Amino acid sequence: MKLSRHTFFLILCYCSLGSCGTPTKALKEAVQPVDPSNFIQENLLQKIEKVKHKLSDGTKADCYKIVTNSQAHEHPMGPWCPNHIEDSKEKGGIWFDKGKVYDVDGHFISNIGAFYADSKWKLYNEDGSIKVTKTQEACEGAAKPNVEDIYKNHCVECQPSFYKDHITTYFIPVNPIYQSRSSKLGRDGLGLAFNGVNFDPPAPTDAILKAHTLAPLDDCGGHVNPHAGYHYHAVTGCTKEVLQKDGHAPMIGYALDGFGIFALYDQSGNKAQGLDDCGGHEDSIRGYHYHAGEPGSNQIIACLNGSKGEMKVSH
Ligand SMILES: [Zn+2]
Ligand SMILES: [Zn+2]
Repeated sequence: MKLSRHTFFLILCYCSLGSCGTPTKALKEAVQPVDPSNFIQENLLQKIEKVKHKLSDGTKADCYKIVTNSQAHEHPMGPWCPNHIEDSKEKGGIWFDKGKVYDVDGHFISNIGAFYADSKWKLYNEDGSIKVTKTQEACEGAAKPNVEDIYKNHCVECQPSFYKDHITTYFIPVNPIYQSRSSKLGRDGLGLAFNGVNFDPPAPTDAILKAHTLAPLDDCGGHVNPHAGYHYHAVTGCTKEVLQKDGHAPMIGYALDGFGIFALYDQSGNKAQGLDDCGGHEDSIRGYHYHAGEPGSNQIIACLNGSKGEMKVSH
């Protein structure tokens, strides 16, 4: 196709506004390699090493191998479920619905039938005690797609200690490579925080709520499942942040493709603008990078725009 002079200038303008699928040459060059010193080394199980590893595009590339048991140390994990319908919000975590975050206190639990306009909810006993999955057997019967009948109408929580021996290994490309097509998030998560804890794709709220169960996050946006152990579905500002000299939102971790993940709001309280479908955009200092979604959105990032490394869990 021969481009008219007019079309050519239109494309040029469009691209300079940062709306093109592929970043400009200058912005590509601004891509920051992964900085392993951002990770809290004491939280990891091994010293970070550089290895060759196959990426999702089939190429072999230098990757950082990061080995972790996905447990937070700089903030408490939990609580998730309150024990009694009179418990205050300090005894429970948070839940989200239609973009909003709610404290899971005793009142929220006792009122949930009205909240979801569904009279089949009953998460508590006659004496006001809340039905919570206290044992490993109970949590595993409830924290799966086909919730076992006896655990329906329960507040679901699993303890991090049940899975502390699960080892998660990440291979994150040292130099991220922007792809022309984005890729969906898989079971291998989307990246990790600087404390080595997994950032997970959205929690399967439809399956959870259909069984009349609730799987609250703690105030730091994390909870535990039998596969990944402790993981985050929301970024609430609890974990290590790397401040940016120009006032841009702080960095909070890396995506599986090696691009940085940043908080949503900059140091003046302004929300990141011009984000693409995955939750990313670019600037001349950081090149392409992601911003985490609102805590109530059940989405840290939505897809990946770079060649993906890998995350594996061994039990
Ligand atoms: Zn989860
Ligand atoms: Zn940004």
